[in-house]
Amino acid sequence: MGSNLRDLMFSMNFMALVSLSALSISFIVSILVYQFGIPVRAADYVRLNLFVTGCVALPTAIIAALHAFETRSYQSRLEALAWTDELTGLLNRRFFLRGAHEECNRMLGRPQAAAVAIIDLDLFKEVNDLYGHAAGDRVLKTVAQLAQAELRSPFDKLGRWGGEEFVVLLSDVTPEDARCFCERLRSRIETAQIEAGEHQVSITASFGFSMVGAGADVSSAIEAADRALYEAKRLGRNRVEMGEYARAGVQDIADFNKRQRALKNRAPAYDDTADGIRAISLEQASLSRRQASRL
Ligand code: GH3
Ligand code: MG
Ligand code: MG
Repeated sequence: MGSNLRDLMFSMNFMALVSLSALSISFIVSILVYQFGIPVRAADYVRLNLFVTGCVALPTAIIAALHAFETRSYQSRLEALAWTDELTGLLNRRFFLRGAHEECNRMLGRPQAAAVAIIDLDLFKEVNDLYGHAAGDRVLKTVAQLAQAELRSPFDKLGRWGGEEFVVLLSDVTPEDARCFCERLRSRIETAQIEAGEHQVSITASFGFSMVGAGADVSSAIEAADRALYEAKRLGRNRVEMGEYARAGVQDIADFNKRQRALKNRAPAYDDTADGIRAISLEQASLSRRQASRL
């Protein structure tokens, strides 16, 4: 469900609630009035009730609902700003890392692995120097769109790592799948003719990727991918290199269980697909405990 529709549903519910409260107040008031015998006939009682509803309950409910809708939309916009990179619309670094950690924990107890890839545009400074900063921005946006179009699973995540660097988490892949993804995207970027003002810009990108096992530390996988990227640059750019495999250690599983216990004490498991952040279900937590006890 789109966030606007969700906000609208929220304010409609709110409006219904306020209407009900106002209606019951007017109902009680008119019963009292009836009891004291001011409107003597039943028809007068009904009219009074309708009058109070029309003049008080409905406007109150509409005003309250409008206010709730505005507050809710504003809150949604703020939330989106907090996790989005303004230029490309991708996740920013902080929220990418958060989502990637959650995804690795989600995979716990399953025979799955993910891959993280860092993508760095080659000699991007020259694009800025030759065609201007606006053209550089256009190139960054286009590369973000090309990468977005290549994602296949709802659990994959794409973020802007900073400057002319992007980061991808590919969920449930083998090293061959991950290399295939990187090669495909590398070739898409290489062949794209990017319209930037009156110029047509071509660019290439270098890729470093690393596999990350369920529950493993994503940050160390990213460091491994970064080292592989450095190697790709050293070997001549416009190529894909693979780094070391990051696997979960006993400490990672213990840390996960600790976080899981804290989460369980605080609130029930949640699944908020709107911002792409997932808490792990209690079922997965118990699976991970079983996995830890096997180690
Ligand atoms: P290499 O192949 O070694 O990565 O060379 P490079 O030129 O891509 O790398 P370098 O780190 O020297 O330059 C990166 C450039 O990216 C410099 C900076 O001006 C530019 N850049 C960073 N962020 C943005 C941005 O948001 N918009 C634009 N237009 N340029 C940016
Ligand atoms: Mg760079
Ligand atoms: Mg670069």
